[in-house]
Formats: sequence, C-alpha cells, structure tokens
Amino acid sequence: MDAATRESFEERARTFAAERLAPAAAGFEADEEVPAAVYRALGERGLMAVNVPEALGGSGAGVVSYARAMMATAQGCASTAVTMAVTNMVGEVVAHFGSEDQKQAVCPVLAGGRHGAFALSEAGAGSDPGGMMTTAVLEDGEWVINGTKQWISHGDTAAFLVVWARTDGAGPRGLSCFLVPEGTPGLSVASHEDKMGLRASHTVSLAFEDMRLPESALLGPRGGGFRIAMMALDGGRIGIASQAQGIGEAAYAEALEFVRGRGGDQGLTFRLADMRTRLDAARLLALRAAVLKERGVPFSQEASIAKAFATEAAWWVCNQAVEILGDQGLVRGGAAERALRDVRVTRIYEGTSEVQRIVISRGALRG
Ligand SMILES: Cc1cc2nc3c(=O)[nH]c(=O)nc-3n(C[C@H](O)[C@H](O)[C@H](O)COP(=O)(O)OP(=O)(O)OC[C@H]3O[C@@H](n4cnc5c(N)ncnc54)[C@H](O)[C@@H]3O)c2cc1C
Repeated sequence: MDAATRESFEERARTFAAERLAPAAAGFEADEEVPAAVYRALGERGLMAVNVPEALGGSGAGVVSYARAMMATAQGCASTAVTMAVTNMVGEVVAHFGSEDQKQAVCPVLAGGRHGAFALSEAGAGSDPGGMMTTAVLEDGEWVINGTKQWISHGDTAAFLVVWARTDGAGPRGLSCFLVPEGTPGLSVASHEDKMGLRASHTVSLAFEDMRLPESALLGPRGGGFRIAMMALDGGRIGIASQAQGIGEAAYAEALEFVRGRGGDQGLTFRLADMRTRLDAARLLALRAAVLKERGVPFSQEASIAKAFATEAAWWVCNQAVEILGDQGLVRGGAAERALRDVRVTRIYEGTSEVQRIVISRGALRG
C-alpha cells in the first residue's frame, strides 16, 4: 500500500476522533453505549473493514493503514475502537476463510458499520482455547450447537458472529469455526458484564441451546478452528497494540496540556519525555508487525512483541498522566482518568501479557 493511502486513513480517523469521538466519549461511557450512527459513520469512512478487499465492500487499504487508523480512533474513544478492532478482525477472517457466499453475505455488512463478534472464550477456555466445551454435532444435515461463551465484545449487537465449537473430540484439532447470523433461534444473551473500563463497549456471555445451523455455516475446514483462531489473533494483536497506543496518546495529551499550563519543572517534563519515548516505541513496534503482515511474511512473534510492549507501556503512560494531573487526574470524565481504566483490559484480551511472553520466548528459543 502506498504512503499516501496510509496517511489518508490515519488522517480521516484522526479527524473523526477529534470531532466526533473525543467530545462524546464521556457521554458514551455514562450511557454505556456508543450509538449505532457512530459505527455507520466509521463505515462510511472505510474504517470498519480497512484490510478487507474492495471487491467485498472493504477498503483494501492494508494492515498499516488499519493500525494507524486504529491508533487515531482509540485516542478519541477506546470503546468505539474495540468494536472497530473486533469487526475488522471478523471481516478479515471471513474474507480469508469464508466460502464465496459467506464473504458476500458478511463483508459488505460489516464494512457498512454493523458489528462482527468473535466468540471464542469460555469459562474454562480463555488463554487456552483447547479447554473449550461448546459442542457442534452434525444431525440430519444440520449443525446443532450447545454451550456458553463469555466475555464476548458486542455479542448482543453483532450482525454476524464467528463462533468456535468442538466438532471432533478433545484437543485443538477437534475445534471448528461457524458463522452465525444475528437472531438465529437458540442463540441468546445470558448476561452483560459490569466492567472497570471500556464501559461503552458491551461485553456479554452468550448461550447456545440446540442452535441449529445449515451445514454450510461451517467457516473454513472442519477441524480447522484452532488454526483460524490463532491466525486471527495474531493479526488482532496488531490492532490491540495500536488501540493501547492510542489510549496512551489520549492520556499523554491531557498531561502535556497540564504541564504546559504550569510551566513544568524537570520533575514533570522528564516524565513527559519518558511517556513520549514509550508511546513512540509502541507505535513503531505495532507498525513493524503491520508491515510484516502486509508483506505476507511471518509476523506472529512481532505482533506479540508489539502487543506486550504497547499495552504495558500505555498502562504505564496512563498512570503517569494521572499522577502528573494530581487531584484532577482522579476526576471522573477526564481523558486520563478514563484512559487509565480503559487501557487495563488491553493487557488481557486477545492474549494476556503472559500469553504474549509464551509466544515471544518460544520464538526466541527457536532462533
Ligand atoms: C473486556 C473484554 C472483552 C473481551 N472480548 C472478547 C471477545 O470479543 N471474544 C472472546 O473470545 N474473548 C473475549 N475476551 C476474553 C479474553 O480473551 C480472555 O479474558 C483472555 O483470553 C484471558 O482469559 P481468562 O480471562 O480466562 O484468563 P485465564 O486464561 O484464566 O488466565 C488467568 C491468568 O493466568 C495467566 N495464565 C494463563 N495461562 C498461562 C500460562 N500458560 N503461563 C503463564 N500465565 C498464564 C493469564 O495471563 C492470567 O494472568 C474479552 C475479555 C475482556 C476482559
């Protein structure tokens, strides 16, 4: 992808974030909702399916454009950004692994601003999807799915859900992946999580009770679900590294204004220097992984390095910002206060920091 395209995706996200997201983010949080119109507007700007081919309604603008747009969007509203991240990831999964009918049915809808959900995690299957208990059994030409998923981002508002279930016995090779349209009988929202941060992003548990799907609902090969999940998460980690970097920028910006207003001494300005350094390093690591993915070369190790570093750096930056702001750092509704609560989860979802260290150390030992 050329430099001008990458620049333009970041710019359009930055403008949207500054004009529409940042001024409204405290209100979204109070309402525990980002209006659907916001996602339609992101869709109109090509930001809900950035790396999905144009022939499928996406922007076809590549991974670097996506990462840069994600950083800019997250600076405006972290909750909006997580829905954008997961929807982009689901769009890519369907574009990559779906049948022609699945691609045509799903990708244009997500590109337009409806949500795509990624339903992998369960009570006993968070870091290790191999512990999954949800089952899918083929009966009279239909898949019958039973089980529960937990902590599924916007699982209640998604137009399409990608759902993992066990089709073929124990272990990772027994997992398959299914495409589930909203409103499928047997699918219900069991509960809503009450979270510390990202409060405008719904996180739900889902129940599947004898949910019947046509045989064609299988996404990718039978038994190929684990591989699809790992490939999706590798790419998703670039998105979450970028989201964290953007949240850190929001906190940094508030701290910077505060220090400027006070004519800060070196105690404060040196802190700003360290914050700026970590945010730049986080940005570069996320972009390095994005460049590799865009080139079609292995990037799993670099994506994990980016996610582990960017999410931990952003957490540190947000904490520093709150400290710099003093008592003002604790007042509800401030950008740094919200950022500190919002950023914490980036170290948990799409693989915890420990899971990233497993990937990184395995890669390092392999050489
Ligand atoms: C706000 C939010 C949104 C989410 N959205 C989604 C979503 O859309 N779709 C979805 O499928 N999931 C989603 N998740 C779930 C998320 O992916 C899991 O929470 C995450 O994978 C961790 O799993 P767990 O919470 O079960 O923790 P566990 O796996 O139980 O881990 C607990 C602790 O043990 C550590 N640990 C685990 N295994 C190891 C190991 N081998 N070595 C060292 N340490 C280890 C972990 O790092 C962690 O600190 C979301 C979670 C949150 C909080």
